[in-house]
Amino acid sequence: MAEFTLELNDDQKQVRDWLHGFAADVMRPAAAEWDEREETPWPIIQEAAKIGIYSLDFYAQQYFDPTGLGIPLTMEELFWGDAGIALSIVGTGLAAVGVLANGTEEQIGTWVPQMYGDADDVKLAAFCSSEPDAGSDVAAMRTRAVHDEATGEWVLNGTKTWATNGGIAHVHVVVAVVDPALGTKGHASFVVPPGTPGLSQGQKFRKHGIRASHTAEVVLEDVRIPGHCLLGGKEKLDERLARARKRAAAPGGERVRNAAMATFEASRPAVGAMAVGTARAAYEVALDYARTRTQFGRPIIDNQGIAFQLADMRTRVDAARLLVWRASWMAAAGKPFDSAEGSMSKLYASETAKEVTAQAVQILGGNGYTREYPVERMHRDSAIYTIFEGTSEIQRLVIARTLSGMPIR
Ligand SMILES: Cc1cc2nc3c(=O)[nH]c(=O)nc-3n(C[C@H](O)[C@H](O)[C@H](O)COP(=O)(O)OP(=O)(O)OC[C@H]3O[C@@H](n4cnc5c(N)ncnc54)[C@H](O)[C@@H]3O)c2cc1C
Repeated sequence: MAEFTLELNDDQKQVRDWLHGFAADVMRPAAAEWDEREETPWPIIQEAAKIGIYSLDFYAQQYFDPTGLGIPLTMEELFWGDAGIALSIVGTGLAAVGVLANGTEEQIGTWVPQMYGDADDVKLAAFCSSEPDAGSDVAAMRTRAVHDEATGEWVLNGTKTWATNGGIAHVHVVVAVVDPALGTKGHASFVVPPGTPGLSQGQKFRKHGIRASHTAEVVLEDVRIPGHCLLGGKEKLDERLARARKRAAAPGGERVRNAAMATFEASRPAVGAMAVGTARAAYEVALDYARTRTQFGRPIIDNQGIAFQLADMRTRVDAARLLVWRASWMAAAGKPFDSAEGSMSKLYASETAKEVTAQAVQILGGNGYTREYPVERMHRDSAIYTIFEGTSEIQRLVIARTLSGMPIR
């Protein structure tokens, strides 16, 4: 188990600098254009693939970094470049983690490489859990997966929403209900292979921010997939369902903990790191501007009112990073999240990004309010961090329940 340290090793520094170069030289200059186009920035993803930033190898390396810092370093640098483009680059990872977490070795080997494709033929993947009536309340999920005993296939029906890369992905990972009586314990994850009939894209959403990232509904109508597309396999699912039924039948057993809350705890610091990237970017723009913008015959940073804001912004960004690194290290070291440290990091970092980007807009004055300066986009982009992967309210609920041991609602 790696010790927790704030000192990056040489490999980490090298990777961070390499990512920073791509973020500064390729992503930043293209950010405004793709934000306006509201389209997946395929040429940028291809460039990332050519140099290895968009590749299974790279993400696997960062994911398995024993210090836990590989993923947060990657997220911070890419989202520093631009949040919308960065989500297009890392969105596949959400589906890949869905397979890594639940799949057999064979399933991981089959599906995860297909999610990325290669530099000459780049592919994307989508993770489809949310539904119109099941956002924070994952237990309200309605998409059904029914096993066809005759053919051994699974048949999926339902509508997923808010899926990053939904409908344009090569591989979709879909969470569906296999036993409605068991709440979240009756859910299972499936891979829908490329070209499967019955899967289609519904509405594509026009968003407030991260507009270069494609977000859409995914409609599943009698989608038939082979038995081997059930992640983890049928035997494991049957065992898990039998255990859950036994527990539900026991006195008090119906109050099973929301599985999604526990599962997300380890992945939430990665979203915190994205928020740190956006917050740091806005802080840097504001600092530069405050040094050079002159009013009343002196740079505006000469006013305590501006300088103190910048001091608070930087302090919050650094504090957010520390929480993210702590939780990321804990996840890698297998430490239990006894105080919901994963949720804490996501809550604090996402709220920080919203506040810091709003302060940056204020420091740039009228310019901050225009699309001529990047803080306007960063401010819009930052609003996503308190919504996806569990809203701020849900993070507070998880933290409060964990700390108190009470079923707080
Ligand atoms: C751009 C974007 C990309 C996304 N990508 C994906 C993806 O790839 N895959 C995927 O599956 N999902 C994705 N999501 C979905 C995202 O995870 C959900 O939007 C999120 O979980 C919130 O669900 P909801 O939108 O239904 O809001 P709701 O759950 O309806 O919440 C509405 C409001 O009520 C509050 N609230 C709800 N319950 C409580 C409570 N118990 N106590 C206090 N307050 C509460 C919430 O905090 C929020 O403020 C994405 C969403 C967006 C916007």
